[in-house]
Amino acid sequence: MHHQSHPAAALEREHLVVIGNGMAGCRAIEELIARDPSRYRVTIFGAEPHVNYNRIMLSPVLAGEKSFDEIVINDRQWYAANGIELVTSDPVLAIDRTARTVTAQSGRTVGYDRLLIATGSDPFIIPVPGKDLPGVITFRDMADVDHMLAAAGKGGDAVVIGGGLLGLEAAHGLTLRGMKVTVIHLMPTLMERQLDEAAGWLLKSALEARGQTILTQANTAEIVGTEAVEGVRLKDGTLIPASLVVMAVGIRPSVALARDAGLAVGRGIQVDDHMVTSDPAILAVGECVEHDGQVYGLVAPLWDMCRALADGLVGSHSGYRGSVTSTKLKVAGLDVFSAGDFSGTDGAEDIVLRDASRGIYKRVVVKDDRIVGAVLYGDTGDGGWYFDLLKRGEDIGAIRDMLIFGQAFASGGGVADPKAAVAALSDTAEICGCNGVTKGQVVACIDAGGHSLDAVRAGCKASASCGSCTGIVETLLAITLGDAVEAGPRTMCNCTSFGHDDVRREIVAQQMRSIPEVMQKLHWATPDGCSSCRPALNYYLLCALPGEYVDDQQSRFVNERMHANIQKDGTYSVVPRMWGGLTTPRELRAIADVVEKYDAPMVKVTGGQRLDIFGIKKEDLPAVWADLNAAGMVSGHAYGKSLRTVKTCVGSEWCRFGTQDSTGLGVKIERMTWGSWMPHKFKIAVSGCPRNCAEATIKDFGVVCVDSGYELSVGGNGGIKVRATDFLCKVATEAEAMHYCAAFIQLYREEARYLERTAPWIERVGVDYIRARIADDAEGRDALAGRFHVAQQFLQDDPWAARAAGAEREQHAPMARFTPHAVPA
Ligand SMILES: Cc1cc2nc3c(=O)[nH]c(=O)nc-3n(C[C@H](O)[C@H](O)[C@H](O)COP(=O)(O)OP(=O)(O)OC[C@H]3O[C@@H](n4cnc5c(N)ncnc54)[C@H](O)[C@@H]3O)c2cc1C
Ligand code: SF4
Repeated sequence: MHHQSHPAAALEREHLVVIGNGMAGCRAIEELIARDPSRYRVTIFGAEPHVNYNRIMLSPVLAGEKSFDEIVINDRQWYAANGIELVTSDPVLAIDRTARTVTAQSGRTVGYDRLLIATGSDPFIIPVPGKDLPGVITFRDMADVDHMLAAAGKGGDAVVIGGGLLGLEAAHGLTLRGMKVTVIHLMPTLMERQLDEAAGWLLKSALEARGQTILTQANTAEIVGTEAVEGVRLKDGTLIPASLVVMAVGIRPSVALARDAGLAVGRGIQVDDHMVTSDPAILAVGECVEHDGQVYGLVAPLWDMCRALADGLVGSHSGYRGSVTSTKLKVAGLDVFSAGDFSGTDGAEDIVLRDASRGIYKRVVVKDDRIVGAVLYGDTGDGGWYFDLLKRGEDIGAIRDMLIFGQAFASGGGVADPKAAVAALSDTAEICGCNGVTKGQVVACIDAGGHSLDAVRAGCKASASCGSCTGIVETLLAITLGDAVEAGPRTMCNCTSFGHDDVRREIVAQQMRSIPEVMQKLHWATPDGCSSCRPALNYYLLCALPGEYVDDQQSRFVNERMHANIQKDGTYSVVPRMWGGLTTPRELRAIADVVEKYDAPMVKVTGGQRLDIFGIKKEDLPAVWADLNAAGMVSGHAYGKSLRTVKTCVGSEWCRFGTQDSTGLGVKIERMTWGSWMPHKFKIAVSGCPRNCAEATIKDFGVVCVDSGYELSVGGNGGIKVRATDFLCKVATEAEAMHYCAAFIQLYREEARYLERTAPWIERVGVDYIRARIADDAEGRDALAGRFHVAQQFLQDDPWAARAAGAEREQHAPMARFTPHAVPA
């Protein structure tokens, strides 16, 4: 720091006036003084009453970790010692470029030779009713922090609108100050511009564990209150009480002054590489500028800008070339780092490391052997190293395999070969932390015949829980057996080393509640999964947590998202439900009206005895559903991995051969089972006598009525590979037939793998197993049927009705983003 004063020379020197006593304005002057302390006479105007302080440390001040004095960068002594005149609490209101003067709020007018605009940013205020109520504030300067501290002193509820960096730091501070804090965030992921879904989920879980309420996908409708703020109402009607509302939804470059002065302004004040604006006498620096189409909201670019600016002011033109930025969240105990691009651009590949027990997630995005992005959660120690490699565009081809383990490992000579590193471990080294299995035990298990990953998991439990040691166990297999390693059963997809059954078992055992949680705890190798594992995980969670898990529509295939079947020409076919294949004049009229009104080119009777309306345009679907709903019809789920149809024959009511009321039973079964999501599509049929006109013996569950009761059979299929059902058992009453049906469906729901139909499932597990569970185990059967009925309480909700009423318009959105290498095996 330079402490020089030049009173005598002051009048001869060019006058440099700075508007904005913030981080960039003062840093620019520091850089200038470092180059030539006597070149300019400097006057700085500041709107705030303070000397220059470190704005990014306002968060620790709010959290009580620092005092204001501790975050001051330059005290009054510095201004005096460098001959700088500081004007505080007096914002500049106008620039006269012809006269070369600025006029401040106090009326004071000062002439300049060079002018530097460093006005920073203005917080964005969402234009909702109530935004001007007392108690609604932003988070930008020390005055805002003082407001928050005064409010927190009274305790009570606070709402922070915005789950970005600033919002979360405000929420953290207010929580530490004793307020009950709710964060409202519009997007599904916190800090979505810096974090991917996986890291966002970890962060959300950690903040919730600290007592904050985090509402994602929550849209603010209004701020309520009469004299002062009393709460925030969301668009879904929820009212959250609050005596303090902090708006932290983003910033806009502060450009009003420059625009009024006629300078070129885009998103920010436009500057060249030397930070000169469209007027050669006027420079601009910091968050208020736009350089090469970019505006910035972090400090790192300011340092580069200020260097280039100071060089220009003393006549040596280095030039500013733009900045690559990285972000860290300043919440004690939560380590989050993010840099570069992780949006999954073409050709980019992800290297992912997860350590669930330590809450660590690391993702490095690589393209053409160069790092293009990184997201780190829990262990950010290598953030700087990755960022450095990224900025320098270093070729990481040679260390790619070790990159994710960090700098120490990747540059570690002998340990740089993972195989050698594992071989060097002692026999007592713990390999599997979850199950306490040592290297010696794993090797003994392999020597005893455990020649595949699965066999080792079964034999000594290593890698059987969280899976984080899978790579080491595989290396031990390779070291011990060489080429004799046997391939294990297929994993769910390339994103995981676990099979479907392992994943389901762990979801239940570890009480997992969301897709990101499963991915984190089971060490998914990709950040967001793929189009193979996401729908499966969504189904497994739906099945394991009825009424609790919220279906992730973006993890469903297009037909299930659209609730209709997409056709070759991009239109949809719509099948309303007709219970047991029965219909009424009213329903037929409604269908005929829909066909005419929406110009449907074809109506077809399906193999399952339903009417299929073809050629409906995507945009007409909600209106078609509304019309069908109005006639009392609900979705036929002809598109879903779910119950499709219950086909019936006319039975004893009309047919002279019929022994039972097959139609009536079919209707009852369909009313019991509709809406249920299953691993795959599921068809049922009920025939009134062994002539079997409803073809019940090629259905997933078939009932054939006989004189003495009902013969139940399972696992039939009429598709590419025709398979007749296996006989399950015979029951005496309709009620039993329905009870066994419910139990069988639940067993299928709980134990079959996603996309496995009943036929291959039964061939895999054996029909004896099914009989043992359904026919022979009365208690187990009751429990299964009980669980089925519990789930149905939440699933029997017509998906058409809500959408016809306008809900979930985003169903027309494309499937979730998947990484290129994560295509199903
Ligand atoms: C709470 C908080 C936490 C942050 N954390 C981080 C972080 O962790 N990492 C990071 O990189 N960045 C962080 N930032 C962003 C960082 O603080 C900014 O990038 C940086 O302060 C921008 O510097 P600046 O000089 O352009 O603007 P500022 O620092 O805002 O300075 C502009 C100054 O100009 C004054 N002014 C405006 N108009 C006039 C006028 N007409 N007349 C006179 N004066 C005027 C303003 O009052 C202000 O004092 C954080 C910001 C906040 C608010
Ligand atoms: S299955 Fe039997 S009862 Fe049903 S229609 Fe055919 S013959 Fe009649």
